[in-house]
Amino acid sequence: MDLNTLYRTVIMDNYKNPKNKGLKKTDDYHFVHLNNPSCGDEMNVEIKVNNGVIEDVRQDGHGCSISMSSASVMSDLLIGKTINEAKHLIYEFFELVQGIDPEDEEELGEAIAYMGVRQFPARIKCATLAWKAIEKAIEEVEEDVK
Ligand code: ZN
Repeated sequence: MDLNTLYRTVIMDNYKNPKNKGLKKTDDYHFVHLNNPSCGDEMNVEIKVNNGVIEDVRQDGHGCSISMSSASVMSDLLIGKTINEAKHLIYEFFELVQGIDPEDEEELGEAIAYMGVRQFPARIKCATLAWKAIEKAIEEVEEDVK
């Protein structure tokens, strides 16, 4: 299996069997909605933070396979991470899809599969939608804490 096939498999697996899908809509979760008009993707994320640690991420929405699978991969990667670790991984992911190779590929886990998106600039917004939503959610949670 070549690398591109492996990456496609990660994307299709997460599209068909999304992780952490479905919103909780309870007070202990912070909700953010974002959309991507250029493709029609709609993204909802929820985050539960306790003592600076991301205890849970939920995601829901509709759109293309890139945006939906990326939300699944993002949720799986960020659960259990500290806020600072999550911010770092989000930053590394934005760099990855824009063509900058990460210092540590291992830490991005399955998210490395979106490396191929850099060849399709129109799809970068699809790949990053869930990550932008969770970045906004983290910022808003931090504002609330202060
Ligand atoms: Zn899309």
